[in-house]
Formats: sequence, C-alpha cells, structure tokens
Amino acid sequence: MKIDIKSLNMQELALQFKALGEPSFRAKQVFIWLHKGAASFHEMTNLSKPLRETLSARYFITVPTVERKLVSKLDGTIKYLWRLKDGNCIETVLMKYRHGNSICISTEVGCKMGCVFCASTQAGFVRRLAPSEILDQVLFTQLDSGEPISNIVLMGIGEPLDNYESVLRFLELVNHPDGLNIGMRHISLSTCGLVEQIERLAQQDLQLTLSVSLHAPDDETRSKLLPINRAAGVEKLMSTCRAYFEKTGRRISFEYALIDGVNDAPWQADLMVRRLRGMPGHVNLIALNDIAESPLKPSRRMAAFQQQLEERGVTATVRRRLGLDIAAACGQLRRSTLFGGNDRETQVKHNENLAKN
Ligand code: SAH
Repeated sequence: MKIDIKSLNMQELALQFKALGEPSFRAKQVFIWLHKGAASFHEMTNLSKPLRETLSARYFITVPTVERKLVSKLDGTIKYLWRLKDGNCIETVLMKYRHGNSICISTEVGCKMGCVFCASTQAGFVRRLAPSEILDQVLFTQLDSGEPISNIVLMGIGEPLDNYESVLRFLELVNHPDGLNIGMRHISLSTCGLVEQIERLAQQDLQLTLSVSLHAPDDETRSKLLPINRAAGVEKLMSTCRAYFEKTGRRISFEYALIDGVNDAPWQADLMVRRLRGMPGHVNLIALNDIAESPLKPSRRMAAFQQQLEERGVTATVRRRLGLDIAAACGQLRRSTLFGGNDRETQVKHNENLAKN
C-alpha cells in the first residue's frame, strides 16, 4: 500500500527520508513541491532520478480533477465539483470579496448530521476526507482559477469536527511557512455543535475563528432543525462556547439562518440575546437558502430580527448571498454528480422562481 504523502507533516516527512537514508533537507524540498501542487514526483527536478523513482514506488500524490466548473454571472463566484481518486465528488466555492478571495471547502464526502435545511446531508454520508484532499481544494482552486486565496472557511460539505484529526492536520499544513502559509486568523471553522470536539479544539488554542451553527436559541426548535441538538441541548452548547472563549480569547461567531415562521419570532431574538449574555459573540444572520428537498422558506423578518439583537447590544451582521445562480450558496453544496447534474438544474430553476416571486 502506497502512502498518501501530502497528508504528512514536515516532521513525518523528515522521518520518512531518514528511513530512506536521505538527508533531512529533502523533506523540505518535497514539501515545497507538494504544496505548489506538483502532480507527480517526476516534476521534482531538484531530486535525483533514482530518488524520484523510489518515491513513486512508495508514495502517491493526490490530484483531484475538475468534474465541473461553474461561474456565477451575478458575482463571479466559482463553484468546482472535484472528482477524487476513488471516484467520489465534493464541491468547493471560491468567493471574491473586496478584501480578498475566500474559499469555502468541504471536509467530508456527504454529511451524517442530517440538518433538515441543508443540501449537503440529503444524499447521506460516504467518508471523511484525508488532510491532502482538504488541502487540494485550496491548492488546485488557486492553480485553476489563477486567483490568490487569502481566506479559508471550512463551511462546505461535511462536519469538520466529525473529521477532527484530518482537519487539524489540514490546518497545520495550510498554515506552514513552507506551504501556503495562510494565517490562522484568516481561517474560519464552522460546526453544527459537537460539544466534545469543541472542548478538544479549545485545548489547541488556535487563533482561527470558530463559527457555531446555532439557528435557534430554544431546544424545541433547534432539535427539529439540527438532530445533533438531541445529544446536547442549547444550554450545554452555549456553556461549551463560553469555555472555548475563555480558553482561547477568540470571539465565536454564531450562524443563524432565518426561516419563515420557525426561528424568526421576537421571543427567539430575545432568547438569543439572553443566551449570549456574558460572552462577546457575534451573530451572523443568513437568509435561508431554499433547497429543493425542503419546504422551509426564508424569513421575511430579517431586518427586524437584526434590529432586535442590535438594540440589545448583540452585534449581528447579514451574510451576503453569493453564487445563487450556480447553487453555490450556504447549504446548497452536494457531493455527487449523479444527483448533481439534474439536481443542480432543479436547484437553479428553484432559485430563479424564488427571484421572480
Ligand atoms: N457542518 C458544518 C459546516 C457546514 S457550514 C456546520 O453545520 O456548521 C454551512 C453553514 O451553512 C452552516 O452554518 C449551515 O447551518 C448553513 N446552512 C446549511 N443549509 C443552509 C441553507 N439552506 N440556508 C442557509 N444556510 C444554510
């Protein structure tokens, strides 16, 4: 069995080269090649030919292929559907902002969390991504688009904290000075609220931004929307978030997709304010993006809800919706071409109808 070389960190690479009887600086040379997106060992021209052959025999390099690429006519957002080595597909979105380009990456093939409003979970869960496959989305999107990427959000398909080890390794790789060298402060990780893993992450004391998909301040509503809430309710989640803030000093961002008649009532805004008491947090309001499988509709009380939070001292921003014409907005990413092809058309038609109404 060959080893996935791009998932190794610098220390592990150094050990591999040591075992091969090679000087340790080889580790750095290879690391640099891999993180520039080298597709084969043959490209690594500063290594001897015999060494390149040895490496090809022992290791493999992951290289996803572009299965489909869509560019939004509305805002230039680009959505990639990548095909992985084993045939599975995942999506990645490149968003252009005035302050730089952001990439939204997937961490799993499908998702097991079952949130009722999210497309990523509708076709179920297949497997976790390797660190290399998470990193490849950044490397190859940058190479293919020619756009430098300065910010990363782990908000694509999958639950990052369900793939804890690989996500942490990815963070180490993407942050490395000999690799893409993207600072932790430029990275956001979004979770639907796996409390034990949030506790674990707190111990790492990373400077990234943790986003928590809250979506409702009361257990009854939240458990209907996000099944994970049945494992640990809102109170436990919020106390875990408070502890996270105390340990890391990093403000948490709470995501709240406003859904008509479900989580947009004035009493829920009030309860939100109470839930955030004693913790400097920030609420990111998202207009629900309709998905074909769900009857839920976006709220019409966006501004009122925002105002209610702001009036009581909670900062609340409204997230810009990007890539609507290519079904690239929050909660619209999917893992498969099987569904993906037709599915996308259904979704885009759906979005067009919404825009008309
Ligand atoms: N599993 C992680 C990462 C996904 S992030 C998480 O749940 O946080 C994707 C973000 O978009 C989450 O906040 C998710 O709750 C939100 N989202 C999912 N479906 C949505 C939809 N249809 N409209 C708006 N936001 C949605």
